[in-house]
Amino acid sequence: METQIVQIDEQNIDDRAKEILARAGSIIKQGGLVAFPTETVYGLGGDGLNPESSKKIYAAKGRPSDNPLIVHVADMEAVEKIVEEVPEAAYKLAKAFWPGPLTLIMKKNGKVPYETTGGLDTVAIRMPSNRIAMELIKQSGGYIAAPSANTSGRPSPTLASHCIEDLSGKIEMIIDGGAVGIGLESTIIDLTSDTPMILRPGYITPKMLSDVLGSVDIDRTIIDSTSTQKPKAPGMKYRHYAPKGQLTIVEGSQDAVIAYINARSKEAAAKGQRVGIIGTDATKGLYNADVIKSVGKREDEETIAHELFKVLREFDEENVDVMFSESFDDSGLGQAIMNRLLKAAGHNKVVV
Ligand code: AMP
Ligand code: MG
Repeated sequence: METQIVQIDEQNIDDRAKEILARAGSIIKQGGLVAFPTETVYGLGGDGLNPESSKKIYAAKGRPSDNPLIVHVADMEAVEKIVEEVPEAAYKLAKAFWPGPLTLIMKKNGKVPYETTGGLDTVAIRMPSNRIAMELIKQSGGYIAAPSANTSGRPSPTLASHCIEDLSGKIEMIIDGGAVGIGLESTIIDLTSDTPMILRPGYITPKMLSDVLGSVDIDRTIIDSTSTQKPKAPGMKYRHYAPKGQLTIVEGSQDAVIAYINARSKEAAAKGQRVGIIGTDATKGLYNADVIKSVGKREDEETIAHELFKVLREFDEENVDVMFSESFDDSGLGQAIMNRLLKAAGHNKVVV
């Protein structure tokens, strides 16, 4: 299949952009797939109420079919039509954070096919704030099932070029809307249990959620890497976001981390391996390795979130065999950053 690649400027949705979005919408209505930008990462969209579309999404990504998709909507009425009941907490969270990077899990009704929910009786729903995404949802019949637009297991796409790498030739269209805003996937909260439970950390932090809801639980598997419990979001059990080289996260004082990474880097180089290092602006110049990248200033978590997946993909292009990354603070947005980094490393972390 030939994949059409089109460009739209989110800040200037003119007649030409509207015409493209109408075409993209009809591709989705007819059962085809379109990759598009959201404020979190790029999504791979198909009609969320069409089981055949969802099957195509799994096939294009090589995604296990028990890993459910998030359904993207443009208004609250669309939510009311596909769930058994909208809990009070959903209205509160939607008022506070939608459109935005928060996904709500509710009990689905018969309109949502099991192909979309990976066989579950619940459905994950999000209203994105990206204007290209919003317009596309409206043009596509109101329900776009969209996981991240990457090959399953690879780092999520934060640029259209990442979608082109992974999906070119497999889907009808890729909409290039430039770099995404946030760079990490949405926070997921399950509203089907007595106390709402965070299943995946993201830009919307536990504190922001508990400010609105009173109390929230956090799925233990997110914060405790040694937990043997099964994660409640099926997708969280897979090794995700993974670069091709083996990644180790190193935690400790700045000097100890730099000394450890440099020593290990030297050993690896002696064995003929190519080494990559993820540091920060302050430490980048203090390492010795083939490829050294900074994710920004340590205290600027928004930039780290924005850069992380891009940097992981850049290491793949550089064909590194082993990689080391500094560890980051685990609170606030840092919780989502460390969750993705630990998954990319297959939980391979050393404390020095
Ligand atoms: P992605 O869109 O690639 O970021 O993946 C969507 C994430 O949402 C995966 O980790 C899924 O397991 C999770 N998810 C989607 N629907 C549900 C659901 N009904 N219950 C629990 N987790 C879900
Ligand atoms: Mg994903």
